[in-house]
Amino acid sequence: MTATFDIAAIRAEFPILSRRVHDGRPLVYMDSAATTMKPRHVLDAMRSFDEQHYSNVHRGSHTLAAEATEMFEGARTQVAAMLGANADEIIFTKGTTESVNLVAATWGRQHVQTEDVILVSAMEHHANIVPWQMVAAETGASVRPIPVLEDGSLDDASARQMLTADIRILAVTHVSNVLGTVNNVARLCAMARERGIVTFVDGAQAVQHGNVNVRDIGCDFYAFSAHKLYGPTGVGVLYGRREMLASMPPYQGGGAMIDRVSFAGTTYAEPPMRFEAGTPHLEGAIGLAAAIEWFRSIDCDALRHHEAELLAHATEELSRIDGMRIIGTSPNKVGIISFVVDGVHASDIGMIADRMGVAMRVGHHCAQPLMDRFGVSSTVRMSFGVHTSHDDVQQSVHAVAKAVEMLR
Ligand code: PMP
Repeated sequence: MTATFDIAAIRAEFPILSRRVHDGRPLVYMDSAATTMKPRHVLDAMRSFDEQHYSNVHRGSHTLAAEATEMFEGARTQVAAMLGANADEIIFTKGTTESVNLVAATWGRQHVQTEDVILVSAMEHHANIVPWQMVAAETGASVRPIPVLEDGSLDDASARQMLTADIRILAVTHVSNVLGTVNNVARLCAMARERGIVTFVDGAQAVQHGNVNVRDIGCDFYAFSAHKLYGPTGVGVLYGRREMLASMPPYQGGGAMIDRVSFAGTTYAEPPMRFEAGTPHLEGAIGLAAAIEWFRSIDCDALRHHEAELLAHATEELSRIDGMRIIGTSPNKVGIISFVVDGVHASDIGMIADRMGVAMRVGHHCAQPLMDRFGVSSTVRMSFGVHTSHDDVQQSVHAVAKAVEMLR
């Protein structure tokens, strides 16, 4: 497929964008950071799998079992190619959250000891904080955050100072789901590696904004969810460097993850199967493969350029609103804008905008420590996807301005 970028053609691929809400208003979907909508290519791929090839994988000797296995393992190869990894370094999970929990429960329990420090950042999603706190509570280790600067970028100087010998793992987000900040994870991982520190990168918000290559980043682990890359919910990925996975104990016990079971003792399969107990989310993996294929048909550079224009447009227009405070103004950010407006409740803005057809998210965005950092309890968040147009931005800004006017 040749990569192209044609916003009208892209929009036409999303059936849900023809939905109308509240008395026939066209849907303006500005919540792609929460989840991305599915293009027809993905919906068709999952339906075709279920209608034509569906069977359980790996164990069967019949035709459908062979087809389903080939497609499922093909999906793994597709994910590996997208990340610049090997197929045996790709584990299917339920999503980013499970990927973090998997590493915390296996590698974490195996390696984290009393007095150790797990270094995260103050801009992490709860999914990349709580599993580490659970390991810390079990082992006597502690979780320490790298501070975030006023513009929403990571405090690099502090990061450098904090990467000391007592750090067992650096677990950091690639892109913040609240601030839109893109962290220089390659540099952070290089600094960590020089000091022998293991690295985990949360890519939940990064994959939908362009190319990600785990070898270039140089991380030990990388995680993302299919539903933020135009694929289905309930499936995600954990990339683990081969040497890391090989030395890790299983996560859950059950079928598929074993080598040989007996009451005298059980031996386990090699990665990635060692970490995939039970029947996997087959339609999910097929849908993810289709999503990757579809996403790769979009010209990444053109997408980035389009998104930067939308971001500049929206930032400029929102800034005209009296009392507007945008939280996250780092020069290196994706199309995510969080804001509060003086004297107006974020939830009221969200509700009125919804009445006007504009879907935005309001709340703490599963990043309460970050809310504390900026002294707010919640923000309104506008986030762009590949379908977002300048007209969407115009309508969203208009809805926010109207809401503020009504609420004052
Ligand atoms: N990390 C980040 C940065 C996220 O934005 C999200 C989803 N909001 C997650 C982790 C968790 O992803 P999931 O709920 O798909 O497991």
